[in-house]
Amino acid sequence: MTPLLEVAGLTAGYGPVQALFGVDLTVTEGEVVALMGRNGMGKTTTIGAVMRLLPAAGTLRFDGRDLLSLPPHRAARLGLGLVPEGRRCFAPLTVAENLTVAARPGPWDAARIGRLFPRLTERRRQPARTLSGGEQQMLAIARALMTNPRLLILDEATEGLAPVVRQEIWSAIRELKTEGLAILLVDKSLRELKALADRAVVLERGETVWAGPVQDLTDEMTDRWLGV
Ligand code: ATP
Repeated sequence: MTPLLEVAGLTAGYGPVQALFGVDLTVTEGEVVALMGRNGMGKTTTIGAVMRLLPAAGTLRFDGRDLLSLPPHRAARLGLGLVPEGRRCFAPLTVAENLTVAARPGPWDAARIGRLFPRLTERRRQPARTLSGGEQQMLAIARALMTNPRLLILDEATEGLAPVVRQEIWSAIRELKTEGLAILLVDKSLRELKALADRAVVLERGETVWAGPVQDLTDEMTDRWLGV
C-alpha cells in the first residue's frame, strides 16, 4: 500500500544550522506512528519540514504527491492537520470563531467536535484566552480536525497538563484512532505511546535510527534513545 506520508532522506535546518540529516518515516492510512527521541533530536523540526514551514530537501510525499514542490499553504490543504507545540489558538477569538476560521469541507464540523470535546461546546462563546490549558489544547486539536485532515500531527499535545486532563486528551486521540484517522505524534509519555501507537520512529541527532512496531521497542532501546 502507498503510504499516506512518505519521508526519506529528509534534511532541513534553520538558516546555516542543519538540524535534520536524514529522516525516514512513513505513515499509512489508519496508522498511528509515534515520533520519538530525546530533546533536541529533531522531532519538531521534522514536523516543521513536513508542514513545509522550513526549507527542506529529500523525499517528502503526501498521498503520492511531492510536497517539496508545493508552496506551504497548498501542502497543508492536501490534508495535513497540525496541532503545534504550545497550542497557539487565536486568543481574542471565541472558541466558535477559532473553529470557524479553520473549517474546510468534510465530515468534521462544530457538532462533531462537541461530541469529542463537550467542554468546548459549553465554552463556545468564550474567548480562547479565557480557557484553561487543557481546554486550549482541546481547541487546538479541534481546530486541526476542522480542517478535515487525512493525517493529524500532534506535537506534545499533553505537555504541561494535569494528569486528569491529559487522560481526556489521550482518550480523544484513542477515539480518533478508532475512527481510522492516521496520526503522527510526539509525546513524552512512553507508556501512552506504547499503548496507542502502531509503530515508532526514533530520531537521534536529526536522523532516523530505528523504526518498527512499538512492541518491538525493548527497554534497552528506550534507555539508549529516550533515556535522560
Ligand atoms: P524538543 O523535545 O526539545 O522540542 P525536538 O526533538 O523536537 O526536541 P527540535 O526542536 O526539532 O528537537 O530541534 C532539533 C535541533 O534543531 C536542535 O539542535 C535544536 O537546537 C535546533 N533548533 C530547533 N529550533 C531552532 C531554531 N529556531 N533555530 C536554530 N536551531 C534550532
